[in-house]
Amino acid sequence: MKNIPTIQRSASQPKKLADLCQAHQEWVSAPDVLTRLTRRLSTTLALETQLGILAEELGQIIPFDSMNYRHRINRQDFVFSTGMGGPHRCEYRLNLEGNCYGTLPLNRRQRFSEEELQGVETIISVAICPLRNACQYLAIEQAALTDALTGVANKRALDEELARCNQLAQRHNQQYSLILCDLDHFKTINDNHGHVVGDHVLRMAAEAMERSLRTSDTIYRFGGEEFAVLLPLTGGKDARDVAERLRIAIGNIRIDCGDTTLSVTTSCGVATHLHGETTEQWIARADEALYQAKHLGRNCTRVFASIS
Ligand code: GH3
Ligand code: MG
Ligand code: MG
Repeated sequence: MKNIPTIQRSASQPKKLADLCQAHQEWVSAPDVLTRLTRRLSTTLALETQLGILAEELGQIIPFDSMNYRHRINRQDFVFSTGMGGPHRCEYRLNLEGNCYGTLPLNRRQRFSEEELQGVETIISVAICPLRNACQYLAIEQAALTDALTGVANKRALDEELARCNQLAQRHNQQYSLILCDLDHFKTINDNHGHVVGDHVLRMAAEAMERSLRTSDTIYRFGGEEFAVLLPLTGGKDARDVAERLRIAIGNIRIDCGDTTLSVTTSCGVATHLHGETTEQWIARADEALYQAKHLGRNCTRVFASIS
């Protein structure tokens, strides 16, 4: 049988509880910046919220005009800015246990004194563990929405974004278009050149597509050799032009395989969101247009019939 630990009751317990109660009161209403900062930072894992708290608490002790934080997490730059410039600057690299968790410059009109710089360092040294946790949490969140092979967003990210766009499209009567791109005869590429080359082609296709898109448009790996591109505020005609640009960009890829040079083509299907339809219906119409492109001989773009 397991030994279940018993709580030792003693006469001093009411006193300990009272002390705990008082300690909690003091902790919650602590006037000192370090206690308040750690308490506030411990309430959230959101990096943006933590930086907002840090800026508030830091600014009460060492006034500054602007604080800018920058950190590259996976392939994305995370940037946080508050306030505007100032010619004097102090900048910190947030290093902990051999890893960097971003850079944090402060700017203002007056010089920072030595004491003030020490104060900034003290406050940052208290904030750095919570900031590290928030960075790691963001990295894990991003990884869950990223395709490991190509580095572009994955199907889960697409599902979330489609649902969001669907709502926006209904509410604000805005146009959203979806492009599905499926690489042509990709199985033959794998069969002839092997999966390693096939994987390389997928990475190059994703890169070529990313380079051809506006920053407002996002690319997702939809499935094996299929990609989806979501175009906000874009109607059918413009979406068709984008799809053609993607198709040509992929067609221009050349891969040196020693004795041969490998190229690849893609077929694209386009559908613009229709009022009242579900995301599944929207995807199904883009898929239908893609099917038509395949049927018409591949290496071409088709827009779903009702809007072409
Ligand atoms: P179609 O022009 O009709 O699209 O022909 P296809 O050969 O591209 O289509 P099919 O669906 O027959 O084959 C898709 C191939 O994509 C088969 C599958 O092994 C390959 N594939 C899917 N995911 C990956 C991947 O991550 N890496 C590699 N190398 N191949 C993949
Ligand atoms: Mg396919
Ligand atoms: Mg294919």
